[in-house]
Amino acid sequence: MDIKPIFKKTDGTPIIIAGPCSAESEEQVLATAKGLAKRNIDLFRAGIWKPRTRPGSFEGVGRIGLKWMQKVRQETGLKVTTEVANREHVFEALKHNIDVLWLGARTTVNPFSVQEVADALEGTNVPVMIKNPINPDLKLWLGAIERIYKAGIENIAVIHRGFSHHGDSGFRNIPRWQIPIELKRQFPDLEVICDNSHICGRRDILQKVAQKAMDLNFDGLMTETHPDPDNAWSDAAQQITPDTFHDLVENLVLRNVTSENREFKETLEHFRSEIDEIDNELINILGRRMQIADKIGLYKKENNIAILQTTRWNNILDNQVAKGKNVGLSEGFMSILLRAIHQESINHQAEVMNNEQLKDMKGH
Ligand code: PEP
Ligand code: MN
Repeated sequence: MDIKPIFKKTDGTPIIIAGPCSAESEEQVLATAKGLAKRNIDLFRAGIWKPRTRPGSFEGVGRIGLKWMQKVRQETGLKVTTEVANREHVFEALKHNIDVLWLGARTTVNPFSVQEVADALEGTNVPVMIKNPINPDLKLWLGAIERIYKAGIENIAVIHRGFSHHGDSGFRNIPRWQIPIELKRQFPDLEVICDNSHICGRRDILQKVAQKAMDLNFDGLMTETHPDPDNAWSDAAQQITPDTFHDLVENLVLRNVTSENREFKETLEHFRSEIDEIDNELINILGRRMQIADKIGLYKKENNIAILQTTRWNNILDNQVAKGKNVGLSEGFMSILLRAIHQESINHQAEVMNNEQLKDMKGH
């Protein structure tokens, strides 16, 4: 895929998208847009059709809201974007000259819906932003990007809005940063925008999450803003006023992606070669560990002993997690690492046992 950026910012500042969760009235939409237009923003957002988890919640004002978006364009000069989830939404949005469309998390998750939107987009060249699916599935996200790209849309960006999860994480949608980072690794030129509002679900951590996105070299932010956040008709707890939003953007610390300073480059190079060396050692050590697993597999087979020894495995887990803590490795990391090593070890032992079994059978 040869995806082209939508925003193409060159001044090193993040892409800024802001506006209410939902368009509620012409006054509310214009008040938000005028508040935001006092400083530079790249795109004004408002939901016209709202995908709600349960019926009975406010489901958006519908078509009439598109007229208010047109008014925003006329009165503030801002470009505008809204969410589309089906063929009719696309036609209506295009008829009203909406500059950029976006696919919501509940649409990206469903290939039928994504394809319907893609088919409706065929023959147009409107830029499209694609939110991550509600579940942490990179392939599904990629699939949606591919469907839209195949419809002939070249200007595509993605929005990271976190993932549904069970239990209390402090987030409305858990970020799982490694997923958008992997997407960026595969498509380095793809603009990745952080929707801190839907990740946080609450105002007090919006700044922290926005800063984290900047530290991870995300290209921009999408944040829900409302003139009277507490009385918003949807997502009240996470919305902030345009002024608070301007403060949030001003307080961001922007880091350089690279530096031309020679000393900096040499020092970084030195650290990186140290890391590469250690990674090589780690891999060699793991290889040696698996050779021993092969030997154990053979030995257990000869003595007709099962591979999995639960007590031994529990001991390893307890002891090594404690040792990891002593050298600054978190319990979560140690647990994932040890489980992965253990699984690989079991696979090695099973392979040795089964191959040996095959040989036995052939011999008879
Ligand atoms: C929204 O942006 O208001 C929205 C509905 O978001 P999401 O698709 O991320 O839930
Ligand atoms: Mn919302």
